[in-house]
Amino acid sequence: MDLLNTLVDKGLRREPPTRDEALAVLATSDDDLLDVVAAAGRVRRHWFGRRVKLNYLVNLKSGLCPEDCSYCSQRLGSTAGILKYTWLKPGEASEAAAAGLAGGAKRVCLVASGRGPTDRDVDRVSETIRTIKERNEGVEVCACLGLLSDGQAERLRAAGADAYNHNLNTSESTYGDITTTHTYADRVDTVRKAHAAGLSPCSGLIAGMGESDADLVDVVLALRELDPDSVPVNFLIPFEGTPLAKEWNLTPQHCLRILAMVRFVCPDVEVRVSGGREVHLRSLQPLALHLANSLFLGDYLTSEGQAGKADLEMIADAGFVVEGADEVTLPEHRAAGAAGCGAHEEPGCGAHAEAGCGAHAEAGCGGHEDAGGCGSAAAPQVNEARTDLVAVRRRGPGTDLAPNA
Ligand code: SF4
Repeated sequence: MDLLNTLVDKGLRREPPTRDEALAVLATSDDDLLDVVAAAGRVRRHWFGRRVKLNYLVNLKSGLCPEDCSYCSQRLGSTAGILKYTWLKPGEASEAAAAGLAGGAKRVCLVASGRGPTDRDVDRVSETIRTIKERNEGVEVCACLGLLSDGQAERLRAAGADAYNHNLNTSESTYGDITTTHTYADRVDTVRKAHAAGLSPCSGLIAGMGESDADLVDVVLALRELDPDSVPVNFLIPFEGTPLAKEWNLTPQHCLRILAMVRFVCPDVEVRVSGGREVHLRSLQPLALHLANSLFLGDYLTSEGQAGKADLEMIADAGFVVEGADEVTLPEHRAAGAAGCGAHEEPGCGAHAEAGCGAHAEAGCGGHEDAGGCGSAAAPQVNEARTDLVAVRRRGPGTDLAPNA
């Protein structure tokens, strides 16, 4: 297919696709799916080989948020039965982080619900970062605390944070439909603050919130302009008790097309398949490894992921390898001068959307026609509600049970 040959050539040159080319990737048919994955996989392997970076989420403070992000189980008015607790102590957070690192993660993502941190909160998180770094040599720490005020990014950097996550989540034109208590511009501002302070910017999206393919392309092109080092791609997890509970729009095939499009637009950036991976990709998860070079090990903020051991087995079975602590994630031209994870010349992307350090909003993916067919009565509709796959996190931080790692 000419389109795919063109996009591979551009990806190897770090040249962005046009908007129409990115849209065309999302419009490809299921007949072409493996060709799309193979093409984007060439770009992924060129910049990242067969390495998979593992990240581990620690939810420092869960629920009770005054913001109204529609996708989020921790939002104002959410009746989702999630764990609710206030700040973990540094020792508790460090213990959870150690479990993830022992499981193979190299980055720990410290996430807290809320609009943004107070200066007292920045003090608490700084102490937690110092504790984790003292106890775990070489660990990368990313903070995800919401909107930052002036000077807070610098304080987090001074405490040892390597990265900051704040997702754009969706296109500027639809942002007001999913959140009213802050703006898209607020989010862009925080990503820029983090980058200016020397933190590696992490910013991504949530697919499956009822947006169009054009919205998806717009947010990914906006992310490319912000130039983050990592882009988490979340697929909406439609939590019962949130306004988007009925948004079961995604199919595994479309999730792969979305990941491929992100890879073509951000060829040399860490693309992280994030929240909603298990719920929406389901048995096609291993194909996502040909597109994304990073994922979250184990559980998410308020929902459970598959067992950490299953993540490791999937990576090995698909012929990929877990990235070691001594390996640099980003290609040399991006990593030079980086603060641990990969710095660069221009600013990057960001958000709060449960998935990891790429978010506050346990996200999922978005839909279209079904691929059903074949008349098998047992085969589920590909984009039907799969509430059976959504499990509220009941282990790890905030409980007496060991974390999943
Ligand atoms: S995404 Fe973050 S800011 Fe928005 S409701 Fe959830 S916890 Fe609050």
